[in-house]
Amino acid sequence: MTSIADRIFPAPLASLAELEQRFPQRDLPEGAMVTRVGPSPTGFMHIGTLYTGLICSQFARQTGGVAFLRIEDTDRRRLVEGAEAFLIEAFKRYGVTFDEGADLDGSDRGAYGPYRQSEREAVYKACVKALVEKGLAYPCFATSEELDALREQQDKAGLRTGYYGQWATWRNKSEDEIHAALDAGKDFVIRLRAPGKHSRKIRFEDVLFGFRQMPENDHDVVILKSEGLPTYHFAHVVDDHFMRTTHVIRGDEWLVSVPLHLQLFEAMGWEPPAYAHIAPINKMDEGSRRKLSKRKDPEASVAYFEQQGYPRQAVIDYLLTLADAAFEPWKQENPDTDSLDFPMTFKGLKGSSGPLFDFVKLGNISRHYIASLSAQEVYDRALAWADAHDDALAALMRKDPEQVRSALDIERGGDTSRKDIETWADVSKEVSYFFDDHFALQADEARAMLSYLTADELAAMMGQYLEMYDPADDREAWFAKLRTLADQNGFALRPNDYKKNPDAYRGVVADVAKIFRVLLTGNERSPDLYSVMQVMGEDKVRRRIALVM
Ligand code: GLU
Repeated sequence: MTSIADRIFPAPLASLAELEQRFPQRDLPEGAMVTRVGPSPTGFMHIGTLYTGLICSQFARQTGGVAFLRIEDTDRRRLVEGAEAFLIEAFKRYGVTFDEGADLDGSDRGAYGPYRQSEREAVYKACVKALVEKGLAYPCFATSEELDALREQQDKAGLRTGYYGQWATWRNKSEDEIHAALDAGKDFVIRLRAPGKHSRKIRFEDVLFGFRQMPENDHDVVILKSEGLPTYHFAHVVDDHFMRTTHVIRGDEWLVSVPLHLQLFEAMGWEPPAYAHIAPINKMDEGSRRKLSKRKDPEASVAYFEQQGYPRQAVIDYLLTLADAAFEPWKQENPDTDSLDFPMTFKGLKGSSGPLFDFVKLGNISRHYIASLSAQEVYDRALAWADAHDDALAALMRKDPEQVRSALDIERGGDTSRKDIETWADVSKEVSYFFDDHFALQADEARAMLSYLTADELAAMMGQYLEMYDPADDREAWFAKLRTLADQNGFALRPNDYKKNPDAYRGVVADVAKIFRVLLTGNERSPDLYSVMQVMGEDKVRRRIALVM
């Protein structure tokens, strides 16, 4: 009579020995780490996925190992069109690279693939079949109604819910009963025959969480679903074995599953990899700390940072800051070194209950990063961003590239480089006032912002200025005129004079400069005023100053 294993898996499958040969041990130097990131293409890329991928690829690269990208798509109901490409492209865009793995258009790179779980059915089945043959796994024909009823009974009796011990009804069925169920063509799943006891504890060491003690797993968990694909638990065990992963670095929501995972490795007769669970990125919410939530927090999504226009390098630097406290001082000492050359350590990753996401910090990193770029680089990157996310800005930037670049070049370069641009979207407010059709300051508005002068005083003063204004002036000559204007109109030339005798003055030289900032840019603050006037050119400067005359 055909065995149960052969009836369940009638098609020819590789033996475990053949699979061992097909996916041999990797020939890598001592200490090289093989890591992987295994996102599911659900249409949402969590910032934690980018974070984990970054950490995985850092460790592999630093140790001369291999990092790969595996698409975990066994949950066919949660698949979303285009989600896989988005994941792969996002990693690429952020410069997080993998040595092997799923690539665009369904292709793969590397000798340990396929790297999409949905394409590995035959490998999983070969492994499940081996377990069934050894009696370490069995088919379960329980219907979902039966499982619901079971749970209800357990609930009523105040017991742990689940398919374990005496509740695992198909665990001890006779071969005849199983054959009969197969004859009847009933749907089934394959479950692990869990060898554990809930009353016993298993102790293991997590690379980041240290020693842990947890109850053994006694649930006969599903390893192969009725449609023939494995559950996450089983798939990762098979894949990480045959892809020769040395370190499973993943979110700490999986820490509780380690007893089961170790049990699965043991059942297969394989050495488990090292596990390093990383604490999730948190945020403060009404005084308490919680994980970033996909539902509540826009910053949980990689797409959000793209839409807002944060430079990718700033996001990566920020994620490195969150991952390892040693990154920031390292970056300060090595400002010109590629951030990905930062030597990350497990020690640095450890000891945090999950870093706190902080927009102010991200903003600062971003401002510093943009400040370090040339005007041309800011122009190119902002335009590339605007082409995808902000049509109005893209049109503005294309209208007069020279003017935009000159505007962006003001106060750029060196340590004191301007830091007013946090996202590419901010470029809009930094350049739009140079364009008449984006500048709509009204005389009344301007007068209200400059209320330390009456309308007549303001008009007179600006008239006086336009008479002496000469766009050919160098910075010194220009400033001397500003001081003359200040002096002749009752503004103190030295802040100290004003402080000593405030009633004797209308204000200080800075208040005079403010008049020009308001009239020329519509704002009380602006980058270096002399440069702004130079970039604007004589016509525009005269016209805008004349607004209040
Ligand atoms: N697909 C799993 C997830 O998205 C991967 C976990 C792992 O890295 O093992 O959470």
